[in-house]
Amino acid sequence: MSKYLISKYQSLEAYTPGEQPRDMKYVKLNTNESPYPASDGVIKSISAEEVAKLNLYPDPECKFLKQKLADHYGVGYDNVFISNGSDEILSFAFMAFCSDEVGAIFPDISYGFYKVYGDLYKVNYTEIPLKSDFSINADDYTNSGKTVIIANPNAPTGLSISLEDIEKIVKTNSENVVIIDEAYIDFGGKTCLELTKKYENLLIVRTYSKSRSMAGARLGFAIGSKALIDDLNRIKYSTNPYNINRLTLIAGCAAIDDNDYYADCCKKIAETREYTKQKLAQLGFEYLDSDSNFVFARNDKISGEEYYKQLKKNGVLVRHFSNPKISDYVRITIGTRGQMDILFDVTKKILGEV
Ligand SMILES: *Cc1c(COP(=O)(O)O)cnc(C)c1O
Repeated sequence: MSKYLISKYQSLEAYTPGEQPRDMKYVKLNTNESPYPASDGVIKSISAEEVAKLNLYPDPECKFLKQKLADHYGVGYDNVFISNGSDEILSFAFMAFCSDEVGAIFPDISYGFYKVYGDLYKVNYTEIPLKSDFSINADDYTNSGKTVIIANPNAPTGLSISLEDIEKIVKTNSENVVIIDEAYIDFGGKTCLELTKKYENLLIVRTYSKSRSMAGARLGFAIGSKALIDDLNRIKYSTNPYNINRLTLIAGCAAIDDNDYYADCCKKIAETREYTKQKLAQLGFEYLDSDSNFVFARNDKISGEEYYKQLKKNGVLVRHFSNPKISDYVRITIGTRGQMDILFDVTKKILGEV
């Protein structure tokens, strides 16, 4: 820390992204990326001609992509907001809808960035404990008088919350925004997209990083009432109007055209997830019944941290969280069938050794 950093940031604990070590080639099951490459259409869309146009700023309004997403999801053009990864929407939404007075609530076990933004923007937030089975109790969020942020399916548990519960939360918090982070919705669970047409205070956050194999392109979007989208635009045009680069805008459109390819990838990942659950059970693991592209698992024979370390030594990366409530567990991203088989082989070896 330099002596120049202003005091309000001196105690800020930054988000820790999953590690990306370069010392050897790993089977990478630690950041919930898709194991499948971008579609042919996406690859072809980044032509030399488009690269040559990098001398020009991108369209700040993201017109083509916005219209494509609006058509694809059956909402109006004015109901879509586009961002540099969904982390940016979350950042803008915390800026726009949370403060010292307007607090925020979110589960104590959830996407780690909510807490980081809460601290960054000096939000008076409350972390609501999950139930002992790691599920979300919707009644903890009704009539909260605060901005509500829930990931559905939740991370790192992979568990979903029902549409009825979401509607109850949205309905009883009409004076506050309810943000539903649907980063993993294409792998399972039920989207609350239709509810955005009925409730002005509901904002859905989506990302291209997981189900559309574009984590490296940084693209996210939000769907909600025009009023909420206008608010996000106010923040965007006050911070970084050209937030999406030209190539990502083009790739984002091409990915929608290739929707069938991505739907097929999601189907394969969901199948591999069920296969993974079976295999983990055979190896004596307990796991939560994930709807997402990862499984949260533990084994009585080995601590979460030790399992993570042993896997890494053997060239397999998974994610371990030190929070004592979940430190027994590791989060395993669903890769290809071949990648998972490597994980199981290494796991057998590790469990034989302890
Ligand atoms: C991965 C993830 C994000 C961030 O995605 P980006 O679009 O890559 O910024 C947001 N929310 C949840 C719950 C995630 O798991």
